[in-house]
Amino acid sequence: MADLKFQRNFGIAAHIDAGKTTTTERILRYTGMIHRTGEVHDGGATTDWMEQEKERGITITSAAVSCQWQFPTVLGTPNADSKKYYFNIIDTPGHVDFTVEVERSMRVLDGLIALFSAVDGVEPQSETVWRQANRYGVPRIGFVNKMDRSGADFLNVVKQVREMLGSKAVPLQLPIGAEDNFLGVVDLITLKGIIWDAETEGMTYKEVPIPADMVDEVNDWRAQLVEAVAEYDDQLMEKFFEDPNSISEDEIHAAVRKATLDLSIVPMMCGSSFKNKGVQTALDAVCRYLPSPVDIPDTVGTDPNTGAEITRKADVKEPFAALAFKIMTDPFVGRLAFFRCYSGRLDAGSYVLNVRSGKKERISRIMKMFANKQNPVDFIEAGDIAAAVGFKEIKTGDTLSDEAHPITLENMFIPEPVIAIA
Ligand code: GDP
Repeated sequence: MADLKFQRNFGIAAHIDAGKTTTTERILRYTGMIHRTGEVHDGGATTDWMEQEKERGITITSAAVSCQWQFPTVLGTPNADSKKYYFNIIDTPGHVDFTVEVERSMRVLDGLIALFSAVDGVEPQSETVWRQANRYGVPRIGFVNKMDRSGADFLNVVKQVREMLGSKAVPLQLPIGAEDNFLGVVDLITLKGIIWDAETEGMTYKEVPIPADMVDEVNDWRAQLVEAVAEYDDQLMEKFFEDPNSISEDEIHAAVRKATLDLSIVPMMCGSSFKNKGVQTALDAVCRYLPSPVDIPDTVGTDPNTGAEITRKADVKEPFAALAFKIMTDPFVGRLAFFRCYSGRLDAGSYVLNVRSGKKERISRIMKMFANKQNPVDFIEAGDIAAAVGFKEIKTGDTLSDEAHPITLENMFIPEPVIAIA
């Protein structure tokens, strides 16, 4: 049984054109390479990987794509303490017309990377998604992309998130250089500079001292960061007033995590996914600060027969319950029903009850989508996301349940998109 502490189900939300596709592609390329080789290769391997992607057809257009990440990473490679994390990246549509689909994805993800363009900042769709994430209580980290573009301004986007979205955005980094000369970031927790290597297309990075002309600014923002998170942690606040320098990195990480999970703050990072800078540190932040399936509240549903409330834990020992959130047609395997398993376990070849139709259906196969392949798996457990093959009749929003313990999970109205016929 997988340790759910190491699972992250998250989405990347962005206004169209902010760089969501590019960022997802970088994540898959990065994690795919680590997955295959145990370490990140040099530029040569990058090209091979891209060739393979082209041949096999990348699955980033899937409703959910899975990958693994070794956390933490140092100098581009996993270090001795690294642990394997399992990511399911859930597609969050970036166009305003798909607000209904955004609602659906919010229901099945546990955390969000809110992606902004460093040039355009908060745009209309960022606001829509932000409000929906607030409604569903989804913790998030902010990633300000396109730092290499002319007019890029990280701190201005931080300000916009505060003023336009009303959230306490707290920088975890400051950019080193800007536009053509955007080199990397100063990490305000470790107080180290990170510079991504242009020669390896950002696949590796090196640590540098804080640039001399940034020292004052870094000290100032670091104090703001510590003060911001100490506000939600009495012990830390005490230490902050006694001696801010006595606060350890681990204590700051823990406080950032706590404040992120209860939606008090939004940690902000920056980079350029196009130049492959900053994506790695954002993934480490996903592991550090975003919730696992056991960090979120228990799932509440209703008994379809009595209407009584039922609570389920993200635990394999509970009866099986899952929510279908996207139906897609795949050229190779046919109709796929993407679902999130909230409790229990489902084995390939077994029967489930579709609570809406009242019919039992056999799941012939369960698939997990990876960047370059679709993997059939024997079973799926609580907290995980996969696609089922074999349904004769299924709709988005359907609850799939253990027949002996029926439950309806959908406690939100998910309307079908209205298609206007001219
Ligand atoms: P999406 O609509 O959010 O999925 O955005 P895309 O990933 O398709 O990116 C939109 C455009 O912005 C593409 O032309 C990308 O090459 C470009 N782009 C994405 N990220 C960056 C970045 O970090 N820097 C620069 N300069 N361009 C970027």
